[in-house]
Amino acid sequence: VFHNTTKMVKICCIGAGYVGGPTMAVIALKCPSIEVAVVDISISRITAWNSDQLPIYEPGLEEVVKQCRGRNLFFSTNVEKHISEADIIFVSVNTPTKTRGLGAGKAADLTYWESAARMIADVSKSNKIVVEKSTVPVKTAEAIEKILSHNSKGISYQILSNPEFLAEGTAIQDLLNPDRVLIGGRETPGGQKAIKALKDVYAHWVPEDRIISTNLWSAELSKLAANAFLAQRISSVNAMSALCEATGADVSEVSHAIGKDSRIGPKFLNASVGFGGSCFQKDILNLIYICECNGLPEVANYWKQVIKVNDYQKNRFVNRVVASMFNTVSGKKIAILGFAFKKDTGDTRETPAIDVCKGLLGDKASLSIYDPQVTGDQIQREISMNKFDWDHPVHLQPMSPTSVKQVNVVWDPYEATRDAHGICILTEWDEFKTLDYQRIFNNMQKPAFVFDGRNIVNIEKLREIGFIVYSIGKPLDP
Ligand code: NAD
Repeated sequence: VFHNTTKMVKICCIGAGYVGGPTMAVIALKCPSIEVAVVDISISRITAWNSDQLPIYEPGLEEVVKQCRGRNLFFSTNVEKHISEADIIFVSVNTPTKTRGLGAGKAADLTYWESAARMIADVSKSNKIVVEKSTVPVKTAEAIEKILSHNSKGISYQILSNPEFLAEGTAIQDLLNPDRVLIGGRETPGGQKAIKALKDVYAHWVPEDRIISTNLWSAELSKLAANAFLAQRISSVNAMSALCEATGADVSEVSHAIGKDSRIGPKFLNASVGFGGSCFQKDILNLIYICECNGLPEVANYWKQVIKVNDYQKNRFVNRVVASMFNTVSGKKIAILGFAFKKDTGDTRETPAIDVCKGLLGDKASLSIYDPQVTGDQIQREISMNKFDWDHPVHLQPMSPTSVKQVNVVWDPYEATRDAHGICILTEWDEFKTLDYQRIFNNMQKPAFVFDGRNIVNIEKLREIGFIVYSIGKPLDP
């Protein structure tokens, strides 16, 4: 691609979301000699990227964007122009779970990917490297190759798989200092040349031994495998948390003890109300579908259990709240602290808070919700949305308008908890560790309950104040 070394390399990224925005900002930061354009069909997203109010919250992101924007980083809705000018095109569009038709409830919906590929085929006038940045089913590159080569007009396309392993909340750190960068490509000379070209981009800041190259299918599958393994760890420890509660063991002690085993390691062993986010469930469902399509039902069933335990954990939490509060929360105010799916992000996609809130509303609770990074509109939208049941792919009824009226979103944790009967902590925001719980207790109904879905509060201190405390996987109140 880069025959002429004096020419500035141009990168275009299709999709300016949680992945496209931060990854391209870091490439622009580390490669001043490369011009990076991030394009999207969403005018509001691009407008936000070009403003002081970036469309996503991520620690450190604003500084990077401000440093590069207008220098070698551009956000634009002119998708065609930037595709046609680029040498390397990253595709980072959303790949949600299909909600209807063949594979509904499991398969990845590649509509956005296909339309991006068709757009590339339509407007390209020079050779391109097309990089799968989105998480896609294994073998997607083959489909993309067909779409591109069918209308190639003599242009050569090389498809690479370069899945993104960043975690929301630590995206910039993860991008600046990745555990590894994975690049999959064809074993042909053209494929190997393309891998080299992409390696050269990352080599601006990533040590050589952290850049791994594989065949296309290994790279595509590795992303699904990584997310499945991470989610599986969470479901394993959550399954253990239920057994801890039944036996008097303490899940934090168990996690600490097993995490010291170097074969297991200490990370991702925190029990919680369940995993969320736009990726874990979607990618495991995708994996399950691929297993089923390849005639491997036993393997599919193994991964299904990871999601089933996650659903079980969310239900278990709701049931614990209701049962503890004398078997009914009807008419009782419950404060929800945290709605984002994890700390340091404003992302609410698939957050366990949705299911917990819906469960409590189903028992007619009145909710007062506080999250430092999530707006009221976003929360109302998430709670009123139809839930898609992956195991039985039919749409459930939307929440009735009266239930949604039982939801009040406030901008202050003390306001949220005033006159409440109970508090549910659903996101591990640092600020929830240092709230003035005495003040909160004084202003609550009695008995006052705390249900800690993230195991972040000091249980003894809260019990001394007078709270009745439930923490996942911990011995129950004496
Ligand atoms: P997102 O929804 O935030 O962003 C996708 C963007 O693509 C949207 O802004 C959408 O408008 C745009 N888009 C869709 N079709 C388009 C088209 N034809 N032309 C131009 N723009 C188009 O999604 P995301 O969270 O950034 O995820 C993107 C992909 O990366 C997904 O496959 C996801 O699984 C994967 N991924 C996500 C994360 C994460 O933490 N969010 C991490 C790793 C991988």
